[in-house]
Amino acid sequence: MKTIGLIGGMSWESTLEYYRIINEAVKEKLGGSHSAKCLIYSFDFAEIEKLQHIGDWNRLAALMIDAARRLEKCGAELIIICTNTMHKVAGQVQSNINIPLIHIVDAVGEKIVEKKIGTVGLLGTRFTMEDPFYKDRLEEKFKIKVLIPNFEERKIIHEIIYEELVQGILRKSSKEKFKEIIENLKEKGIEGVILGCTEIPLLIKQSDIDIPVFDTTRIHALKAVELALKESSL
Ligand code: GLU
Repeated sequence: MKTIGLIGGMSWESTLEYYRIINEAVKEKLGGSHSAKCLIYSFDFAEIEKLQHIGDWNRLAALMIDAARRLEKCGAELIIICTNTMHKVAGQVQSNINIPLIHIVDAVGEKIVEKKIGTVGLLGTRFTMEDPFYKDRLEEKFKIKVLIPNFEERKIIHEIIYEELVQGILRKSSKEKFKEIIENLKEKGIEGVILGCTEIPLLIKQSDIDIPVFDTTRIHALKAVELALKESSL
């Protein structure tokens, strides 16, 4: 089993989910008292959030690279960044380490293709929904058409993520808002929806929605386990 390095704390609410899903999957595959070999570098999210909102992506890239290098030095054999948003700097991280970084968009793209879905909705922070790093990778690498909510809806989702979900607050009214936004996207033709923020699956489950839901936290965590357990896969 390879050691997985997790760059987490963005927020810790979702890193906890990664840790649980990864350990449960290893136990399910290997049985008995098996659990995952992993290392977690956990940020103070307040510092990250501040840099995101002033647009200092160079500093954020430097912080992610530093965390990845520390994990590599400590023995990690593969790396995952436990947030969709910070994949904006994933390319810079990968080119500064000698171990593979498992890209969240690739893990999700593979699942969407498996389900033979051509058009998906993308929900996440405004950085994830509006910047090209996420949408373009899905469109160019996987030929998946990506639709995003309108401006007002994007503002609402972004606010719910930063004011509630990363702080561990789960409100029924916010869940209803998400469902309404997904309904509106369905009218525009989406066949599935990406929960493209690692905290959204805390609020929205497959059972709430009548089209396939792509839970990025779960998909990404399970991909890491698959590769960690695969013979000489890396
Ligand atoms: N965890 C969230 C994501 O998947 C948002 C927190 C962040 O900005 O990193 O994008």
